[in-house]
Amino acid sequence: MTQAVLTSSTNSDNPDIRNNWTIAEVQALFSLPFNDLMFKAQTVHRQHFNANEVQVSTLLSIKTGACPEDCKYCSQSARNKTNVEKERLLEVEKVLEAAEKAKAMGSTRFCMGAAWRNPKERDMPLVLDMIKGVKALGLESCMTLGMLDENQAKQLQGAGLDYYNHNLDTSPEHYNQIITTRTYQDRLDTLEYVRSAGMKVCSGGIVGLGETDVDRSSLLVQLANLPKQPESVPINMLVKVKGTPLADVDDLESFDFIRCIAVARIMMPKSHVRLSAGRSAMNEQMQSLCFLAGANSIFYGCKLLTAENPETDKDIQLFNKLGINTETIIDESQQQEQTLKTALVNEQHKALFYDAAQ
Ligand code: SF4
Repeated sequence: MTQAVLTSSTNSDNPDIRNNWTIAEVQALFSLPFNDLMFKAQTVHRQHFNANEVQVSTLLSIKTGACPEDCKYCSQSARNKTNVEKERLLEVEKVLEAAEKAKAMGSTRFCMGAAWRNPKERDMPLVLDMIKGVKALGLESCMTLGMLDENQAKQLQGAGLDYYNHNLDTSPEHYNQIITTRTYQDRLDTLEYVRSAGMKVCSGGIVGLGETDVDRSSLLVQLANLPKQPESVPINMLVKVKGTPLADVDDLESFDFIRCIAVARIMMPKSHVRLSAGRSAMNEQMQSLCFLAGANSIFYGCKLLTAENPETDKDIQLFNKLGINTETIIDESQQQEQTLKTALVNEQHKALFYDAAQ
């Protein structure tokens, strides 16, 4: 098994952020009574975010299917007999048309995903043009193209890419049950190149892959203990696809998924925790509990790469019912102003409550 790198340190720039979580500590969080866990997660969430705002991204598959990797959950692996229709790399113009539509629907970030082991040199000029075009529309850009080398990471950053998505998927211990064509260390290396090039990191995992609860803790420890925590942490619920080796795996208990969101929120207090794949199988009440647990980012649109996603209209209806607004893009000085306002509101809230301990 690949030995993953764990960095045990606290983050001196951000005293709220710890990079030395242990699996035992995380297991203790998972074991809290549900209401206590939710209260803790919501308290952490309100210290760092507007609790009634959700960031919205749109994800477009720019190259679909025929992937040489053997991820056992994936409809796009060439080794899995699924009904996904293969598509070559989309033309830049088509990608930019989709980005314009996403912006009109209220997305602030446009994510582009390609089913590759890694981008080839011949693909890079097209990919770089896509990034420049998306940035010119005033959107944040994100890509997920598989493994990167150091030079490719620098090229993407040079074109203006804001985020690179590369998930760890599961724990180092469970990893070989899910993927054998790339190692856990390969993934950590790509994340390191992305970070060193100066891009923001989007990295999370999938719950429901037949892993144990210790595996879930171990995955979150890997993410939270990265030298710098990912700015965006997608927590996916497995979408079981016919023709994949995980098509018949046992259903995940909904509360286990919600607990995972809450624990991720507590461990990575300043990251956007994204309620990602699997949302179409969740009713409104379950999604609402995920928001209460600290999820504050979703994908809009009816397709998530190749899996179903709730229609945008339904998302807007749910946001209206919950009084949730979508987050707008803000620069660094606005971010500082917002942090101050959040701190002020928290102080005012404290003053409203009678302190029963006194
Ligand atoms: S998850 Fe990504 S790398 Fe794995 S098979 Fe699917 S497209 Fe390929």
